[in-house]
Amino acid sequence: MVQMNRGIVVDTSSSPHSLLRPVPISSSRIDDEFWTPRRRALREAGLPSQFEMCEATGRIDNFRRLSTGKNDPFQGRVYNDSDVYKLLEAASHALAEQHDQDLAATTDGVIEAIAGAQRPDGYVHSYFSLEHEHQRYSDLTTQHELYCAGHLIQAGIAHRRATGSGSRLFGVARRFADHICDTFGPDAREGVDGHEEIELALAELYRETGERNYLDQSIYFLQARGREPSLMPAVPGAYERSYYQDHLPVTDQTEVVGHAVRATYLATGMMDAALEAHRPDMARAATNLWESAFERKAYITGGLGARYEGESFGDDYELPNETAYAETCAAIGGVFWSWRMLCRTGDAKYADAIETALYNGVLSGVSLDGTKYFYVNPLTSRGGYERADWFDCACCPPNIARLLMSLPGYFYSTSEDSLWVHLYAAGGVRASLPDGRAIEVEVETRYPWDGDIRLKIVEAPVSEIALRVRIPGWCDRATVTVNGRGAQPDAAPGTYLEVKRRWNQGDVVSLSLPMPVRKLSSHPQVTTNQGRIALARGPLIYCVEAVDHASIDLLETALSRLDEFDMRHDRDLLGGVTILRTIGERLPKPFDERSQIRAVASNRNDEVDKLPITAIPYYAWGNRGVGAMQVWIPAI
Ligand SMILES: [Zn+2]
Repeated sequence: MVQMNRGIVVDTSSSPHSLLRPVPISSSRIDDEFWTPRRRALREAGLPSQFEMCEATGRIDNFRRLSTGKNDPFQGRVYNDSDVYKLLEAASHALAEQHDQDLAATTDGVIEAIAGAQRPDGYVHSYFSLEHEHQRYSDLTTQHELYCAGHLIQAGIAHRRATGSGSRLFGVARRFADHICDTFGPDAREGVDGHEEIELALAELYRETGERNYLDQSIYFLQARGREPSLMPAVPGAYERSYYQDHLPVTDQTEVVGHAVRATYLATGMMDAALEAHRPDMARAATNLWESAFERKAYITGGLGARYEGESFGDDYELPNETAYAETCAAIGGVFWSWRMLCRTGDAKYADAIETALYNGVLSGVSLDGTKYFYVNPLTSRGGYERADWFDCACCPPNIARLLMSLPGYFYSTSEDSLWVHLYAAGGVRASLPDGRAIEVEVETRYPWDGDIRLKIVEAPVSEIALRVRIPGWCDRATVTVNGRGAQPDAAPGTYLEVKRRWNQGDVVSLSLPMPVRKLSSHPQVTTNQGRIALARGPLIYCVEAVDHASIDLLETALSRLDEFDMRHDRDLLGGVTILRTIGERLPKPFDERSQIRAVASNRNDEVDKLPITAIPYYAWGNRGVGAMQVWIPAI
């Protein structure tokens, strides 16, 4: 049974500077052929396997050693608690959408261990207790203590929003938050964590409780970065200050730098301050940073972070394909950040960024069966790279789980007199506007395989309501009609089209978003992509994979800029995908096979070797064994 109004991801219902209000996870239904099977796989296979991995690697025993008093040694990395918290958050979002006795029981068992590990003063960290208690808060720069706390707080809030006010996890989280508020601040101990996360967690705790001190504490931590002298001591093993975004006060930062996941979480926290407090300086800085990240430093897949070194952003247009880092968590952090930008402005470019990441650089992070994960998401592979069940540093698997379990919460919003439709999937929504008026809409579509979308009004008030439907930035020549009439002339790409009227039950708004194959080229400063094109259709970025090209070396093939593509939907391939096919050609090799170089002929050799080329969606690569893959393909 679906429980109504459960599970809000970012509760901007009362945020003074948010245009958009949230629609709970349980009120937005995704029932389609794209997201439903992969979300089910993650829920039914992924979450149980992640709980098993947390058990097998001692992550939950780390809490039990405190709750049972057994005094066993701590296992694994110092920040492993955070993986358990993120997994509990994912499970809570899943429970908000649909109750599940087994999942609830598993969740409760882990919560019991965490509750038992809480120290009398409210502190929770399975490493910095018992034998390491004297090191508590001794190295915030590298030890992730407040980062872990932030994930506990987010998990507690999600659990309370899913299960009600009696949530034990929320009680634990709040006591720890109170301890942190008592411990850190201008009149207490000065300090800030090297890995941002506590900032956004405390802002959400403010939203959940209405208690202003949590928001003030969040803003304190934001402003504790970039001080002179730094509040982050240069302990052994520490990186330079920009790695932690500590090189300048956050409101003075204009270029996104350093560790990519941290940078996205920081900007997300800055946007929370902008949404909740009167902080236009935070909004302005987060906007500048967003433009730096998404207009000059993002992969076509929504991947963020070009460099392995420091898991970091590179320079502008530094976007190598083979050595792309593009951590799954950074693409996810980009979604959290863009969502808050969207809430504040209603600008469709932020929804475009969310869509690009979700269908490409986030989704590539998980296998089709929901149990294997990429940490790094390259855009070229020579082969030999595959998803893993788990990682020693396992931030990505539970992060993708918590995002995809909360996915329905990102499809719709409300504002004063409007229902906003950001993303498209078959299903529907029942939303209450801020003034209490309810509207229910059913959505029929085969998106992203087909751009025809029907929004049918199931219930609406007798007064006027606007439907604001997103025309994706990739879509030229969109048309929108109401009950088959009145094509809207202003369905411009990258906008929300407003259709305002008194709705009758059965009214249908139809969108037609044409999805031809798009051939894309990069900014010329992206030197690795010069002379190359990428293929896209609708929101999906495509790639070519060796398994579809058995007789040729994938990295030695080229496409013609002019060739047409044949499209075919194959229900049996990769869970059902639309594939693109064309004829490419083999690139010439050196005449001397011992040489790496070749003299260019003054006239083009007419006897080129023609080859059939098949492209599949990027998110689906690596699900048929190990082999080469390429997104940006040489074009001739
Ligand atoms: Zn990660």
